[in-house]
Amino acid sequence: MRAVVVESKGAEARILETNEDELLAGAGEDATVDIDVRYSSYNYKDGMAIAGRGILRQYPGIPGIDIVGTVTSSGLPEWSVGDEVVLNGDGIGELLPGGFATRARVRPDALVRLPEAVSPVRAAAIGTAGFTAMLSVLKLEDAGIRPEDGNVLVTGAAGGVGSIAILLLARAGYRVVASSGRKDEQGEYLRWLGASDIIDRHELSDAVGKPLQSERWAGAVDSVGSTTLVNVLAQTKYGGTVAACGLAQGADLPGTVLPYILRGVTLTGANSVNAPRAARQRAWDALAERVDFGKLDELSTTISLADTIPYAEEILAGRIRGRTVVDVL
Ligand code: NDP
Repeated sequence: MRAVVVESKGAEARILETNEDELLAGAGEDATVDIDVRYSSYNYKDGMAIAGRGILRQYPGIPGIDIVGTVTSSGLPEWSVGDEVVLNGDGIGELLPGGFATRARVRPDALVRLPEAVSPVRAAAIGTAGFTAMLSVLKLEDAGIRPEDGNVLVTGAAGGVGSIAILLLARAGYRVVASSGRKDEQGEYLRWLGASDIIDRHELSDAVGKPLQSERWAGAVDSVGSTTLVNVLAQTKYGGTVAACGLAQGADLPGTVLPYILRGVTLTGANSVNAPRAARQRAWDALAERVDFGKLDELSTTISLADTIPYAEEILAGRIRGRTVVDVL
């Protein structure tokens, strides 16, 4: 098999072509399904893994938190040779060997059968970022936030999670406002995705404002955290809901309880890594139905396995737009 491998903590990632049993030994005893990987995708976390920023917790490690491929052997009747599957998170590319490889050995618990309407390359284009965007949008819908309630904000708008969140929300009829640090450069792209308005992210990210600010948002999908999320909560309308799913600015939350206790705002969260099976299936079924695949194709670029190493710097610097598929062959 061929894989991107980080051999020890602090070592540089490199491409290795070597024995499958050796490289996949770390998959553990629960890993009973073998997969021919066709595609993976590039997420912020993969950039961190390659750059040695504390994501990999097993060595030798293989980055890649997404796998799209075909089952080649299975210890369970539920999965058969030839099944096309998608796996997002569940520890791969962190604690377990990931998808930047031609072969994978995985636990069956988080595997999802590829919906018929979604081709393998499109499933990779959706990837963890799109899956997380869908989980976040479902959180808003489950909280009763409807298009007629008012504007919905998406932060980190030009990134992977943000781009797909805009696509999904706009298609569902919400009026979407995008918050981006690349308003001039990516304004046209964000409107093409479906954003009705764009605000400069510095309005939200630079300083914590008053604990309660003018009510602007019926809901929000936030992939940024920190000061940005505090200001979003302070601007959320009475009864609104904010789905937090990322920490591109930071993991801190330097705010007050006032939005919750005076405006009944709900802060909820979306976690792709440990999402239970039913939630995964629900999100993938929804993605199959709701993604505008023409737009998905246009917002995605494809890179090779070897490209994944220099690409880390690009994603960590916030220079990537939309989604990146990794063609592992
Ligand atoms: P990307 O790098 O594709 O996008 C992140 C975007 O955030 C950037 O494009 C930029 O958008 C914005 N941003 C970057 N740095 C800052 C900053 N300092 N302050 C404010 N905004 C900033 O990453 P992803 O979309 O893949 O992931 C986004 C976040 O979500 C990450 O923190 C990631 O770890 C997390 N995540 C969490 C998941 C979960 O399960 N909860 C799953 C997937 C991702 P712009 O240029 O438009 O301002």
